[in-house]
Amino acid sequence: MNLSTDCKLVKKKNCEDATKIKIGETVIGQDFAIIAGPCSVEDEVTTLKIAEEIAVLDIKFFRAGAFKPRNSPYSFQGYGDKALNILSKVKSVSGLKIVTEVLDNDAFDAICDVADIVQVGAKNMGNTALLKKLGGINKPVLLKRGFAAKIEEFLLAAEYILSNGNKNIILCERGIRTFDDFTRFTFDVAAIPTLKSFAHLPVFADPSHATGLRELVTPMAKAAVVAGADGLLIEAHIDPDKALSDSRQTINIDELKNINNKVKALLAFR
Ligand code: PEP
Ligand code: MN
Repeated sequence: MNLSTDCKLVKKKNCEDATKIKIGETVIGQDFAIIAGPCSVEDEVTTLKIAEEIAVLDIKFFRAGAFKPRNSPYSFQGYGDKALNILSKVKSVSGLKIVTEVLDNDAFDAICDVADIVQVGAKNMGNTALLKKLGGINKPVLLKRGFAAKIEEFLLAAEYILSNGNKNIILCERGIRTFDDFTRFTFDVAAIPTLKSFAHLPVFADPSHATGLRELVTPMAKAAVVAGADGLLIEAHIDPDKALSDSRQTINIDELKNINNKVKALLAFR
């Protein structure tokens, strides 16, 4: 395992240089954090109810997509600007910090205004124009690994953001495509300690997209915690079967509570 010399800024030099990102009362990279919410922003009533239930669990980050990069142009594309207004409401009513995805130049500033963390989805990991632009904002970026991206390509994508001035990046392992499509993707658990040993950035894991199956979310969330993840990104909904997107991999609030309750004990194993 030899890292490209172009991984200049992302490379970990010693144990002390781990990046810590303070968002509200949480220091990402120091405090284990869960980011949860529905795949897409739902109607206002449902979204606020999900947020309320997540806040009760003492989870601090709410994630939902306003603009969705769906495989099919005929699938639900997100409520767009209307969803950004709903996210603002979630923020003011619940106090939760907001994570939402930016796809391109469309609504870029409006997304950055409402988001406390801006997500770059797997399909956009290699979008160098977008990465350069995110290097110029003063919000943390959650960078998801492309499902066909090597570790080094992933780190070089982070390098694009870092070298353009934004130091607050969270890496997120969300599964890769392998020969086996029995699960939606293959969760690359080994990527977690690998990324943490080569880069100084916090590493999150997304067991929802990694598996595509709600019954696999809890076991893979546990594996991610023990493997050294700094946090989890989980799709959760008050009524998962009714979720506007990614319903099959979405867990209910009880299951989210169950994962949240287990984290502390699991942290002792690493
Ligand atoms: C998402 O986070 O809802 C999403 C579309 O994930 P990914 O970019 O990892 O496919
Ligand atoms: Mn999703």
